[in-house]
Amino acid sequence: RIVVVGSINMDMIAHARRLPLPGETLPGEDFEMAPGGKGANQAVAAARLGAAVSFVSRVGTRVHGRALIAALRAEGVEAAQVIEDDAALPGIAVIMVGREGGENSIVYIPGSNAALAPADIQQARTALQQAQVVVGQLEVPQAAVLEAFRIAREHGVWTLLNAAPALTVDPALLALTDSLVVNETEAAQLAGLADAIASPEATARTAAEVLRARGLPCVLVTLGAQGVLIADASGLRLVPAPRVQAVDTVGAGDTFVGGVATALAEGRTLDEAVRLGQAAAAIAVSRVGVQSAMPRRDELGAEFAA
Ligand code: ADP
Repeated sequence: RIVVVGSINMDMIAHARRLPLPGETLPGEDFEMAPGGKGANQAVAAARLGAAVSFVSRVGTRVHGRALIAALRAEGVEAAQVIEDDAALPGIAVIMVGREGGENSIVYIPGSNAALAPADIQQARTALQQAQVVVGQLEVPQAAVLEAFRIAREHGVWTLLNAAPALTVDPALLALTDSLVVNETEAAQLAGLADAIASPEATARTAAEVLRARGLPCVLVTLGAQGVLIADASGLRLVPAPRVQAVDTVGAGDTFVGGVATALAEGRTLDEAVRLGQAAAAIAVSRVGVQSAMPRRDELGAEFAA
C-alpha cells in the first residue's frame, strides 16, 4: 500500500480568446472544473496504475469539497484518512486561460490544505505504519509531511518526497527522505545553485551531487522530454524519456511520482521504477487533461505488467 500525504484542489478553468484587463468583462469560450492538487494527482496516478492507495489530507467542504472526495473514491483511492472541514474552503485554483497568447492568470486559494497539521497525521498512524511507501509534497505544511515521514521511518517504510513547488525545505524533512523527486528548477533551488548554470542536464547533475553529498540516499531529477537523472549509491545516470508527441505537460511530474511510488511498493528496483514512472508520464503528456490523462496499467505495455 502507498500512503500519499498532501494537497487536494478544485481547479476552475475559464477559457477566453484572451485574458481580460482589470475591470473588463469578456465572453468566455469554455469552462471546466477538474480535481487537482499535487497530492491528489499523485494518489490518482498510482491508483490508476494498480496500487492500493490511501490519501491523507484535509478538505474544506464549504464548496466542492464533497465532490473532490467523491472523485478520489471513484478513482479507487481510499479516503478514510481525509478529514472534512465543514467551515473551511478546500484548495481552489481559479484559472483564466487566454487562447491566442496561450497565457493564463491564476488565483490560488490554499484553503484547508494550509491547515493540515501533525495532529491530523497522527490519526493516520496505522495506515502509515502498514504502508510500503509514503509520499509527500510541499503544497501542505512541511510539519505535516515531516510527522508522516517520522512515523514511516520508525517502521522502515520508504519515504518519497516530491519537493514541489520550489520552496526552501526543512533539513529535518530531507533527513527523513529516502527518495527525493524534483524537477531541475526545484533541484537548483534546493541545492542553492544559481538558476541554469549551463544546460538543464548540467544543472541537474551538479544539484544531484550536492544533494547526495548532504546525505540523501537517492535523488531523481526530472528533465521533461529529456528524461530523468538518477543519483544514488551506484552513481549518476540519465534515463531518457520515451519519445512522444506532447500536447499537455501539466501533471507530468505528478504522474511520474505516482508511477515511481507504485513500482517501489511492488518491490521493483529504482531504475525499473523510474522507467515505469516515465512510461506513465509519457502517456499522460500525450493527452489533454491532468488526472483524466493519466494512464491505466494495461496501457503501459508488457514490460510493466503488474
Ligand atoms: P514537472 O512537470 O514537475 O516540471 P517534468 O516536466 O520534468 O516535471 O516532467 C516529469 C516527467 O514527465 C519527465 O521526467 C518525463 O518522464 C515525463 N515527461 C515530461 N514531458 C515529457 C515529454 N515532452 N515527452 C515525454 N515525457 C515527458
